[in-house]
Parts: sequence; structure tokens; C-alpha cells
Amino acid sequence: MNVIIIGAPGAGKGTQAYHIVKKFNLHQVSTGDLLRFEIKNKSEIGKEIENIIAKGGFATDDIVNKLIKKVVTSPDYRNRIIFDGYPRNLNQAKNLELILNSDNQYINFVLFLKVSRNILEKRILGRIICEKCNKIFNKFYDKNEIENHQCGKNYLIKRKDDNKEVLIDRYDEYMKKTRPILDFYSSRSYFYEIEGSDKIDVISSKIEQILTV
Ligand code: AMP
Repeated sequence: MNVIIIGAPGAGKGTQAYHIVKKFNLHQVSTGDLLRFEIKNKSEIGKEIENIIAKGGFATDDIVNKLIKKVVTSPDYRNRIIFDGYPRNLNQAKNLELILNSDNQYINFVLFLKVSRNILEKRILGRIICEKCNKIFNKFYDKNEIENHQCGKNYLIKRKDDNKEVLIDRYDEYMKKTRPILDFYSSRSYFYEIEGSDKIDVISSKIEQILTV
């Protein structure tokens, strides 16, 4: 199955994707991670997008669509993908359908995590990520888990764009460009809106129920 998870920055897409991947043996495809990888490796793409991402803007569709196409059609990944952070605008949503359909694949579920603005802010400002295993923590809520994390504390990092100023721009971009894709998907039978302000486990079990129907 192929699953898309949509939500504002900080809505919990990465956290839930991490859980779904383990539970359903899927692959998480996060365009944010793919882009950060390019930046870390100082590739041509990485150099082009570094400043844009640091300020909360979007990478161009051209760049993102190319990165996505490679992964989506690879034999290891096809039909076992959870998309996290893609599509992020209408053009990308249409492009994804084209790529999938031309490879005899389909979208099976679209999950929209709905979260209020003030919760998003707390989640983003406290977010810490393990570079090794991709698990996401919150420094305000997960003190014990952070102390006892299996990969150790050396891999735990804060994202450069997780600060108050950039959050404003990222949220604006989301409202202007990403939210409209809900209209594109909301009439489809596989679209599900989920209350994303609940506890992580509560949301995870709701998602599990949806994906096991
Ligand atoms: P994320 O890890 O999903 O929060 O993404 C981090 C940043 O990467 C975003 O703020 C954008 O600058 C960029 N980005 C991620 N996914 C996309 C996408 N599908 N299209 C354009 N830019 C993206």
C-alpha cells in the first residue's frame, strides 16, 4: 500500500510515519529528509536549496519531483511507501498521481493530521531528532526517553529551521500552498481526517485501525 500523510509543520507526520513504517513494514519517504541529505552532502541540489530551506521556503517542484520519482519507482520501495512532506502543493499532488499511475501504483490512503497553531509551535520548538534512527523526540515532553534512547545522545540534533521566526514562514507556506491540496483529496474515499492534537499513541492506534480496514 501507498500512504500519504499531510499536516502543518509540527503536526506529527514524521512521528506517525516512524510508527507506521515499523508496524506495517513500509518505507518512509520524507522529502525534507531527502533535501537535508543533499544539503549535508553539499551536492549541487544541496547548495541550491540550503538558504531557501533555512528560511522556511519550498524547494522547487522540479528538484523535489525528481528526487521523488527515483524513490517511488525503485523496486525495493514501490507499493510500500508512506509519503511524509510530499506532496506539498497541487502541482506535486498531480505529479505524484502521474508517477504512480505510470508505474501501476496507486494511493491507498491519505491521512490528514489536524492540529491547532499553538500546539504546532510547542512541538516544533521542542523537536529533537535522532540522526541515526530518525526517531523524533520533544525536549519538553520526552525527558526520560531522551536520556535512555538506544542510539545514545550523540546523534540527537535540533533542525536549523525549527525556530520561532522560520516557523512563521513555514506555517504561511503551508497555509498558502499545502492546505489547498486537501480540496484535491478530501472527496476521495481513501481520505481520512485525524485529530492530531491527541497523544502520540492515541493517534497511532487510530491510524492503525484505518490502515487495517
Ligand atoms: P519537513 O522535513 O517536511 O518539515 O521539510 C523541511 C523543509 O524542506 C520544508 O520547510 C521545505 O523547505 C523543504 N521541503 C520538504 N518537502 C518539500 C516539498 N515536497 N516541496 C518543496 N519543499 C519541500
